[in-house]
Amino acid sequence: MSTLAEVREQALTCTRCALAAGRTQVVFGVGDPTAELMFVGEGPGQQEDLRGEPFVGRSGQFLDRVILDETGLTRADFYVANVVKCRPPGNRDPLPDEISACSPWLDQQLDLVDPSVVVTLGNFATKLLLRTTEGITRLRGKAYPFRGGVLIPTFHPAAVLRGGGEAAAQMRADLVRAKRHLRPRTVGTGPQVPA
Ligand code: URA
Repeated sequence: MSTLAEVREQALTCTRCALAAGRTQVVFGVGDPTAELMFVGEGPGQQEDLRGEPFVGRSGQFLDRVILDETGLTRADFYVANVVKCRPPGNRDPLPDEISACSPWLDQQLDLVDPSVVVTLGNFATKLLLRTTEGITRLRGKAYPFRGGVLIPTFHPAAVLRGGGEAAAQMRADLVRAKRHLRPRTVGTGPQVPA
C-alpha cells in the first residue's frame, strides 16, 4: 500500500477532471497523517487554491476556532481534506462528474489516515460519504457508523457564518459529539485516564 505522502505526490499532477485546467494548485489535505479525527469539506476556495492548504480563508479561520473551543485540538492534531481537491471556478458547487473523478483520492486519504471519527462539513461531503440524498439539516445531530468508526455530519462553516447563532450552536454541539467519540489519546494534553 502507498503512503499518504506518495498518494499526495500523485494527486498533485491529477488531470482526471476539468477543474485541473483552472487551478493554481491541487489542495490535497493537511494535518496528522495518523489522526483519529478527520474533517472533510467541499472544495478549495480562492485562498486555498493560492496557498495549497484546505480551509485557510475566512471559513477556515472560523472552523479552527470552533474546533479549538469545543475539542481543544489544533491542526497538528487532526487531518483535513475536501471532496474535490481543485477550486471550482468562481467557487461554484462541484459537479457530480468532478466529485466522482476526485473521490478515489478521498477514499485513499480515508484508508491511510484511518480516523475513528470523520466530521463532514456541509452537504457535499455528507451526501458523498453517507451515500444519501438527504440534506445536512436532517442528517446532523447524530453519529453514523462509518468504516469501523463514526461519521458526524455538521454544517459547512461558510453556512454557519451566513446562518448565525443557532447554526453555530448546532455546529458546536456536533463538535462536542465528535470529541466524545474520540479515543482518549487525542483529547487534551493531560495524563490519560484508562477507559
Ligand atoms: N471551503 C471548503 O469546503 N473547503 C476549503 O478548503 C475551503 C473552503
